[in-house]
Amino acid sequence: MTYKLLGNGDPVRLFVGGLHGNEWKDTSDILEKLEPPAIGSLAIISTVCKEKYISTLEEKYYSTVGKPIIQAVEELKPDIYIEFHSYSKQNKKSLTDAERIYKAGVPAYSQLDNDVLLGSVSPIIRKKYFSMEALCLSFEIQKDNPQSKQYGAKIANKMKECLSRDDFIEKLKKRYPFQASKVIEDYRNFYGL
Ligand SMILES: [Zn+2]
Repeated sequence: MTYKLLGNGDPVRLFVGGLHGNEWKDTSDILEKLEPPAIGSLAIISTVCKEKYISTLEEKYYSTVGKPIIQAVEELKPDIYIEFHSYSKQNKKSLTDAERIYKAGVPAYSQLDNDVLLGSVSPIIRKKYFSMEALCLSFEIQKDNPQSKQYGAKIANKMKECLSRDDFIEKLKKRYPFQASKVIEDYRNFYGL
C-alpha cells in the first residue's frame, strides 16, 4: 500500500502531491496535515517522486515514477481524484494561455484567487482509469508564494469534503461562476458531449 487512508466508505477520494521534481516542497505538507473527511474516505499519497521531473502529459510518467498513483487508483477506484502541483511564476502565462489546447493538447488552467490555478488532469490517466462520472482535477499552487500555498491548503480542506462531481460544480459556480463554466465546457469537449 502506497497511500495513507483516512475515514471510511463512500465517496472515495484520492489526493496526490509531490508528483515530480521539487513540487513536494509546496504540496506534500498540505496533504500530510489533512484530517479525515466528515463523510467517506480520503486516500493520500503526499509525495510521489522527489527527483526526476517527468511531465504528467508524457505517457511514461504514469508507467514509471507515477506508478504508485495507478496502483492506488486500481485498488481504490476513487470517485474523486485530485493532483496538487506547483508552478513557477514565469510559467503562469503558458498554463493559463487560451491557446494551450492547441499548443499542449490540454485545456488552459483557470485562475482562482491567490494565483492558485484549476485545471484537468492528464488525459493519459483520465481516459484510461476513470469513468465519466468521476471528478478529476488538478490544482497548481504558485511556488515561493506563501499566500498561494495557504489558499491551496484551504482548497484541499474543502475538497476533502466534496461528495461528487455535481457537488463540486454547484459549489464552484457560487464562488467562481466563470471558471465553473469553463470546467463544464472542457469536460464536454473531452468526452465529445
Ligand atoms: Zn507538476
